[in-house]
Amino acid sequence: MSYVDEVYDRVVKQNPGEAEFHQAVKEVLDSLRLVIDANEEKYRKMGLLERVVEPERIISFRVPWVDDQGNVQVNKGYRVQFNSAIGPYKGGLRLHPSVNQGILKFLGFEQVFKNSLTGLPIGGGKGGSNFDPKGKSDREVMAFCQSFMTELSKYIGADQDVPAGDIGVGAREIGFLYGQYKRLTGLYEGVLTGKGLNYGGSLVRTQATGYGLVYILDEMLKHNGKDLKGKSVVISGSGNVAIYAAEKAEQLGAVVVALSDSSGYIYDKDGINLDLVKEIKEVRRGRIKEYTDVVKTAVFTEGKGIWTIPCDIALPCATQNELDLEDAKTLKKNGCFAVAEGANMPSTREATDFFLDNEMYFMPGKAANAGGVATSALEMSQNSQRLSWTFEEVDEKLHQIMVNIYQKAADAAERYGVKGNYVAGANIAGFEKVVDAMMAQGIV
Ligand code: NDP
Repeated sequence: MSYVDEVYDRVVKQNPGEAEFHQAVKEVLDSLRLVIDANEEKYRKMGLLERVVEPERIISFRVPWVDDQGNVQVNKGYRVQFNSAIGPYKGGLRLHPSVNQGILKFLGFEQVFKNSLTGLPIGGGKGGSNFDPKGKSDREVMAFCQSFMTELSKYIGADQDVPAGDIGVGAREIGFLYGQYKRLTGLYEGVLTGKGLNYGGSLVRTQATGYGLVYILDEMLKHNGKDLKGKSVVISGSGNVAIYAAEKAEQLGAVVVALSDSSGYIYDKDGINLDLVKEIKEVRRGRIKEYTDVVKTAVFTEGKGIWTIPCDIALPCATQNELDLEDAKTLKKNGCFAVAEGANMPSTREATDFFLDNEMYFMPGKAANAGGVATSALEMSQNSQRLSWTFEEVDEKLHQIMVNIYQKAADAAERYGVKGNYVAGANIAGFEKVVDAMMAQGIV
């Protein structure tokens, strides 16, 4: 049995019930076969793959808080500190009822290679809770965040582990978490990113993942003789990533015709009015359906069918496994030629293989959504220097980082004889740097 298969079998046996983690490990290891086969003896001797797939540490804790009716609620809290070979652990916190250890391990594992791809000195981690912020009052969210941070604060620090936002964690939650960290430790340091601009946040961090996604999409199209002008774009989700991907796509001349949330999707053939979406989602915290109360020509459809809308480009920006093989086939049949992932692992393995086998331009999340964490690392740099860079400075750095990520993924794919396969390219390029650092640091 090959080293890759041995290690994958071991992951399945030793991590029962963690389907998303198995899926992520398989996808990464499969695309690294060429590199691993070429270095098998060296890697085996160092137990390299066994160490790569095992988090350095998982912290799991109880999060008790009191709701508005005076009842005690108890959630599960986690931080997965996956790999610190190239820098302090870095990765978001997710608050969603679906959160469990397996999902956070999948996200932490992906984060290791994504962070490496950015070229910045950050290791990989992920955390969160099965707390559902939807429908909770601000006071309840604060009570939860304070309790969560009371425990988490023992394990994080500006040079140790620097969490950020993810699903369900935006500016409000980061503010509550930061306030509690400061109160407990007495430290005013860059321990979280995504902070408000008045207390150490970076300009462009809010926009970074969505903008970065469209920067790398644009780069991929340009290298393949295409561009964004006049192209119709379907984007799933209507959260942080989706909204700013839509904004940048429109700025570059594309027409965004659909967005969604977990209830259903809106289709506006004339192009989505983003100011209205921001008002609904960022100010009112409402549902995407409310869009059709104002724009009467737009249509809301309940359920998951967003990928049936004909488009040139699809940007899945909601959650994992939201785009399956049938969706991929439908997109292709309707003329879609490019897909770039704003979310983490939104395409199933079968859908990814379909894109690659059918010569669609496909940029995986690991590369495509790295702009968020890259800008978080820029926020860390500004915090260390006690300086704030202008919007233009940060945006230019973000743009350059995304261009570099494209180049690294494209070069690595070409080097290993799979030109245009950015899945393999991104995995190889991210892996090489982490592995070099791990080999240099001995058996730790
Ligand atoms: P938000 O919470 O801001 O938005 C998430 C959006 O996706 C919402 O519209 C939500 O709808 C929808 N959604 C979430 N879960 C589901 C589900 N199970 N089924 C259908 N729709 C769902 O999160 P972000 O925009 O920050 O994150 C989106 C994705 O991007 C995630 O995969 C995240 O890991 C990834 N990502 C985010 C980064 C960031 O900087 N924020 C960085 C890199 C990756 P509803 O409101 O109805 O739940």
